[in-house]
Parts: sequence; C-alpha cells; structure tokens
Amino acid sequence: MATLEIRDLHVSVDTEQGTKEILRGVDLTVRSGETHAIMGPNGSGKSTLAYSIAGHPKYKVTSGTVTLDGEDVLAMSVDERARAGLFLAMQYPVEVPGVTVSNFLRTAKTAIDGQAPPLRTWTKDVKAAMADLRMDPTFAERNVNEGFSGGEKKRHEILQMELLNPKIAVLDETDSGLDVDALKVVSEGVNRVREGGDVGVLLITHYTRILRYIKPDFVHVFVDGRIAEEGGSELADRLENEGYDRFLPAKA
Ligand code: ADP
Ligand code: MG
Ligand code: MG
Repeated sequence: MATLEIRDLHVSVDTEQGTKEILRGVDLTVRSGETHAIMGPNGSGKSTLAYSIAGHPKYKVTSGTVTLDGEDVLAMSVDERARAGLFLAMQYPVEVPGVTVSNFLRTAKTAIDGQAPPLRTWTKDVKAAMADLRMDPTFAERNVNEGFSGGEKKRHEILQMELLNPKIAVLDETDSGLDVDALKVVSEGVNRVREGGDVGVLLITHYTRILRYIKPDFVHVFVDGRIAEEGGSELADRLENEGYDRFLPAKA
C-alpha cells in the first residue's frame, strides 16, 4: 500500500512580469489501487501540479506539503522521487541523444531497483510489454524521443510505466495527439498496470475521451489552480455533456 498526499499546495513561477501563483491550495490523496482523474479547462494548472510533483525546478512550492507514505517528496531530488516509487512521465528529458530505448529503460530500472535486472528475464519482459503495446521490436533500438510521433511518445511513456512498476504514476495529457486506435492501445496499457495490482494513478486530462477507456474512481475538476469540484466517474460523464462552461466566469 502506498499513499501520495498533497496538502494545501501552493506553487508559483517566476515570469517576466514577476512571480505568478498558479496552484492556490491543492488538497489531494491518491492511494494504491485508485485511479484519479484531474480534469479542467486549459490553463487551470493541471500540468503545473504534475511538474510540481516531478520536481521541475521552474515550479516553486511556496507552501504546503507532498508526501509519499509520509516521506517528504519535496525534499527529494528527481532521482530520489523515482526511486521512492513515483512515476512521472514528464520528468524525463525531451530527447536523450545517442541513448536507445532499450538502454534507457534498463538504466532507469537499475537506478530505481538499486540493481540491474537479470538480462534474460528483462529482455523477455521488455519484448512482452512492447508486444502488448503493439510496438515494433525495432523501436527498442531507436534513440529516445528522436523523431518520435505523438503516439510513439505516449506508447514509450506507458512502456516505461509497465516496466518500472511504480507505486504512484502521474500521467499528463496521455490522450493528446492520439488517434482512436492508439488511444485504445495506450488505455489498455494503463489498465493492465492497474489490474496488475496496486499502482495508484493520477491521470491528468483536459478531454473526457480517454475516460471512456480508463474508468476513474475519482474525478477532480481543476479551476484556476484549485480543485473546484470532486466526484466519481459520473462527474466525467457530466463534463463530457456539459463541458467546463459552468466553472468559467460568465462572459459579459
Ligand atoms: P493546464 O495544464 O491546466 O493547461 P498549466 O499548468 O500548463 O495549465 O498552466 C497554468 C497557468 O500557469 C497558465 O496560465 C500558464 O500560462 C501558467 N504557466 C504554467 N507554466 C508556466 C511557466 N513555466 N511560466 C509562466 N507561466 C506558466
Ligand atoms: Mg487548502
Ligand atoms: Mg497541461
């Protein structure tokens, strides 16, 4: 069992116009086995929450806490967060020149587990996970993110999640840039990891589309840097029908 606990989180960024507060008191608890969807209009701070959990240096936590099983996540380096069991797809660099997918995954797995996975089983696991995600085997020998399409990036994200076996996974905009077939493959991957036992998933998305394939246990609506409403998966259905209009200031 693992618990990610976010308490009254306030986060700012420095801009040319001065310091801007983006998250204005976020409270959220994600436990093993639960899937939480964070939804909300563009610019409401969803990605900022993901970056803050990931430890992106641009996002300054001004108050509040983030803990994983009571351990202070905010005091951890990005690597320590991964070793503690947090999976944050966006913590990885956009391109890793000269590093193949295969080597990248093995290095990440070794760093997280503190020892290299046995080569025989590891190669088998990678092959199986890639086949599940309908990835061509040659993908393993490509350089990370070099010329990846949107769909390939997302598959690579889910491949990492399947192999790294995190306690809590944060997935931001997993559905953006995916056609329906790719969306299904990616959703199936997430669902496999969920079924595999006790990962807690924080699924961040503007669109309700992916939630047809991945049923969240809880839905939180982000508006202006705060959670404005919470509910079960029926809230996602309601947003699908109504959009975010009722959360936005009335137009003059
Ligand atoms: P969402 O993911 O919900 O669309 P974001 O977290 O990306 O929202 O952005 C929330 C707000 O914070 C937006 O107004 C955005 O312009 C601003 N913002 C986010 N990151 C930065 C940054 N690095 N520098 C300046 N402003 C930022
Ligand atoms: Mg609060
Ligand atoms: Mg975003």
